[in-house]
Amino acid sequence: MTEGGSIAERLAAVRAAITRAARAASRDAERIALIAVSKSQPVEAIRAAYAAGQRDFGENYVQELQQKAEALRDLPDLRWHMIGHLQRNKARHVVREATLIHSVDSVELVKELGKRAADVRLAPERRFYPDEDRIAVLVEVGIAGEAQKAGVAPAELGAVLDAVDAEPALALKGLMCVPPFTPDPAASRPHFDALRALRDRHGGPERLPELSMGMTLDFDHAIAAGATLVRVGTAIFGLRQRRPE
Ligand SMILES: *Cc1c(COP(=O)(O)O)cnc(C)c1O
Repeated sequence: MTEGGSIAERLAAVRAAITRAARAASRDAERIALIAVSKSQPVEAIRAAYAAGQRDFGENYVQELQQKAEALRDLPDLRWHMIGHLQRNKARHVVREATLIHSVDSVELVKELGKRAADVRLAPERRFYPDEDRIAVLVEVGIAGEAQKAGVAPAELGAVLDAVDAEPALALKGLMCVPPFTPDPAASRPHFDALRALRDRHGGPERLPELSMGMTLDFDHAIAAGATLVRVGTAIFGLRQRRPE
């Protein structure tokens, strides 16, 4: 992980590492998008990354996302990704700002998002998928089972995917996971492989083209396993202040 340097330099280093990991896996680096995770970082840091060409930013908390979106309205093609746990009563705010919601984790949330998305259209320049005018979502899977609270249990995934398909205002784009923290990044690999296997069991890349997996410590392992979206915070912005729980 890069320690010193400006945000632009760190961003360049992360992009270079993504290209290396893609090459090592005989994959096209163009098919791997970098989401810069800006939670707890000031808007100036986001502006610096934007000036260096970054357009996709990830936030975990709805209120923080709304405040930053408001403060950065002058950047018309900045794209917000919602990557944190989403409560149903916040769904209506998120559909107005997020270009992709990575963290859909229940049938109830799908129904609420479907209802709230019905009369919302993202401005074309804020769309992650230029031709998609529905609200794009990924389903988060609790890939490590019982030990994990976030995400849909693998056995319930089919029902949640079908629920998304049944909502005319939502577009199903793929799966997401956050493996349990481990100091050994290679230990995440089996979880990434498991997410890909689940994708293949539930319709494959035609139905679920995106796999959102991999963070600062383990994104190279995620790319080796087939990640199309990597969510990287610390390597770009430096350490975060811990959010009071
Ligand atoms: C914070 C966070 C990240 C980024 O983590 P880093 O280790 O700082 O790269 C990625 N995904 C999710 C869901 C997060 O909450």
